[in-house]
Amino acid sequence: MFVREFECPSCGGRIEKRNVNSKSVACPYCGQASHIQADSLEAAGEAHLLVDYGSILSTGLRGQLGDYKFEVHGRMRIEYEDGFWDEWYVRLEDGRDAWIQEDDGSFVLFLQQEAEELPTDVFEKFKVGSIRRFSSEYHDVFVSSKAKAKVLGADGELPFVIKPGDPADFVEGIFKGKVITLELLPKETILFVGQHYEVDDFIL
Ligand SMILES: [Zn+2]
Repeated sequence: MFVREFECPSCGGRIEKRNVNSKSVACPYCGQASHIQADSLEAAGEAHLLVDYGSILSTGLRGQLGDYKFEVHGRMRIEYEDGFWDEWYVRLEDGRDAWIQEDDGSFVLFLQQEAEELPTDVFEKFKVGSIRRFSSEYHDVFVSSKAKAKVLGADGELPFVIKPGDPADFVEGIFKGKVITLELLPKETILFVGQHYEVDDFIL
């Protein structure tokens, strides 16, 4: 298996990187998020160690959800006005990256979708309760929620460069029973399509 070791720039703790796609790691000892450079780590933002509230998931865990076998590589905690939720970064058995969103004991497995062109200004233009086009494939989406959000902290590995405090606004909708999300990151908008699962759907 691919493993690389780094030293945490804040506390000197040993950090392992197991996913070649990862661009950030968070220190398991002090919570410092860092960007991965060629041979070292560059600290990004303030250290923020996530409090564990007893999730069934954890970094390094292997399991199965529905038809998908996965290994957990990291987690990002997102804060919004009503609280927070966790996004677990997982690698699927077929090599694809995916996210398991955990919010108060309910789970959605999200896969990133390639889209030729995504709408712009969605946060301002998309009203909750309206039907909007998210992409050519997901065209009649019922907009179910949207919120201003930000990254609270991370642990493990993440596939992009983030730091605590970064905006993570989103617009979410429903299309044919699936959850369609536009993640509005500082430099890009990403389309995710997800499916709901219950805690009993996990094999751990
Ligand atoms: Zn550290």
